[in-house]
Amino acid sequence: MFGAMDIATDDTRKDLLGLTRDELKAEMQAFGEKPFRAKQLWHWIYHQGETDFAAMTTLAKPLRERMKDHYVVGRPKLVQEQKSSDGTAKWLLRFADGNEAETVHIPETDRGAVCISTQVGCTLTCRFCHTGTQLLVRNLTAGEIVGQFMSARDAAGEWPTPNDGSRQLTNIVVMGMGEPLFNYEAVRDAMLIAMDAEGLGISRRRITLSTSGVVPMMKRYGEEVNTDLAISLHAVNDELRDELMPINKKYPLDALFAACRDYPGASNARRITFEYLLLNGINDSEADARELARRLKDLPAKVNLLPFNAWPGCGYEPSPPAVMKKFSNLLNDLGLSAPIRVPRGRDIMAACGQLKSESQRERKSLQKARIAAGVTDEPSLFG
Ligand code: SAH
Ligand code: SF4
Repeated sequence: MFGAMDIATDDTRKDLLGLTRDELKAEMQAFGEKPFRAKQLWHWIYHQGETDFAAMTTLAKPLRERMKDHYVVGRPKLVQEQKSSDGTAKWLLRFADGNEAETVHIPETDRGAVCISTQVGCTLTCRFCHTGTQLLVRNLTAGEIVGQFMSARDAAGEWPTPNDGSRQLTNIVVMGMGEPLFNYEAVRDAMLIAMDAEGLGISRRRITLSTSGVVPMMKRYGEEVNTDLAISLHAVNDELRDELMPINKKYPLDALFAACRDYPGASNARRITFEYLLLNGINDSEADARELARRLKDLPAKVNLLPFNAWPGCGYEPSPPAVMKKFSNLLNDLGLSAPIRVPRGRDIMAACGQLKSESQRERKSLQKARIAAGVTDEPSLFG
């Protein structure tokens, strides 16, 4: 079952989801318990996926009772599910304060990735990205970030944590709404929880974090977390990238490539992925492909070519398939692996850069309807 716990918003009990090992230990100590309780709890929460203290049978009964009065183990709550004809599922998840974000499950034959969000909205305004048309509402907490993956496990019935080889949900991609490196601590803690071998057990090589290029945080992320890294590149000269991605004005290409070169653990066996969106007549010429290959020449790099998902009013068009193919072939000839990524979940607006907008629109009309009906008890979160 999906998101079994339905925790009321006026619930004052503390949510244990998202506490790091050290924080959980400190919490248990403050609760008058020995540190090993934290280890037991960790196992229940992240290995067994248990949300009900009553079922945590290695804890003494009186303790279970006491825990229930003071704590919860939360989950983001599923409020809407859309399934694509290609099997991709998009979930709108609601957090305890009523804010919402989207999580996407992309099943493949021998694996499955869960694409998770790190912020509600985004402070950046990349011109091609639908999320970028929304304001930042707030950062998600570590529990809300890792909770998206755990809700997906609830839905897949994948508890206790299965062996690596028998999982449906094998990978995490941090490519949903928001810029993860602008919410550094929460993202770090969530990833460390996801990677913990005595819990969710998703190895760092099965996690990819995508950033628009927050240069000063990249090294620290590499040192403290060190999952695979993807860079939203989309342009190979500063003038165009300034226009497409305003963050480039602050951290231009030279600084970005230098930070990639410094990313701990990057090597030819472990390449950085450069995401490159093909926009008709904007960045898809032969000269662009040559410049891309030149700039990535001395980096452990691979390229993912993304077909552009157009949205109303965006002002760009996707490059025609023949142009994409030519671009990809040229990069291959120049020695760069550059597959064209098959977009998933297009029919339900679940593809990259499209998250949240539909639900926002729905929310607005719902809000209007509410106001028209004189019901104003729910705060408007999205203006
Ligand atoms: N903020 C982070 C992660 C989320 S975006 C980042 O920018 O990297 C995930 C990927 O989707 C990024 O590569 C982003 O550039 C890409 N993307 C955004 N809008 C898109 C669109 N309309 N079509 C295709 N990809 C898009
Ligand atoms: Fe934010 Fe990434 Fe979209 Fe840019 S591409 S607006 S950084 S979510």
